[in-house]
Amino acid sequence: MLNEIIHATLENYQYALTVFACLFILERIRPVEEKQPFAGVVFNLFISVVLTVATQITMRLMVSVLPPMPFHPLLTVAPPSTWQGKVGCEILVLFLYDYFAYWLHRVEHSVSFLWRMHRLHHEEEHMNVTTTNRHHPLEALLRVPFVLLPLVTLFDLPFSPLAFGVALGVLLPSFSHMNLRLEFGSFTPFMIGPQLHRLHHSSEERHFNKNFANIFPLWDILFGTYLAPERGQFPSTGLQALPKNQRIIPSGYFFAELLGRVRRKSVISESSVFETGTGGMR
Ligand SMILES: [Zn+2]
Ligand SMILES: [Zn+2]
Repeated sequence: MLNEIIHATLENYQYALTVFACLFILERIRPVEEKQPFAGVVFNLFISVVLTVATQITMRLMVSVLPPMPFHPLLTVAPPSTWQGKVGCEILVLFLYDYFAYWLHRVEHSVSFLWRMHRLHHEEEHMNVTTTNRHHPLEALLRVPFVLLPLVTLFDLPFSPLAFGVALGVLLPSFSHMNLRLEFGSFTPFMIGPQLHRLHHSSEERHFNKNFANIFPLWDILFGTYLAPERGQFPSTGLQALPKNQRIIPSGYFFAELLGRVRRKSVISESSVFETGTGGMR
């Protein structure tokens, strides 16, 4: 087991480093910030090792301790034979994964102790591709009950672990964290990119609690948290503007959302019966 974890960690980290290196070079084409402190990159790469180990341990524990499911999944899709079917399946898996990841992300912004973990990701003041893995290792653990379990218990989907892992684990999130002045224009609502995700990381309070989706902004559009960037808008990032005595948004808000109050404009609303105080978390 230990050998497997070490081997998988090295393999995954090597892959992540390769993607980071390629995108880091591409960032030079048109960076949002010309010069960024190298120490931040080194810190992110170190945190990335810890996160990779935590992910591997979590995944193996999940596989070894989970009992067989006592019920049939809601949706079963037979393995497709055509390439169109395979691509369709991959997109479907991405969509469903992103749905659960959206809500986990939103809960991380809403529940105080989860935010304390997630804020490490948001403390980045010089966002670049290495920020992708700047996550508290316990966040890897959260993905099991919030994302992986619902996905594998509710849906029986044929998907290629390779494409799934590549797209989700490293490539797409890495792309959206790039220090790159790249605008999608009218394509912005269809796929997350460096500009839209930068708004999520923005240090400006008016951008707080927006654009939670990892891949498809559709979830933000549907659940009222989408904020389209203005032309040429690439705000600074970090938590400098957050009040020290930041309030806690009760998790009751989250459950109210699930029960149908899904069209609200912001997680932070002055008029909400669930919320008190000022300030907020991103
Ligand atoms: Zn991010
Ligand atoms: Zn966030």
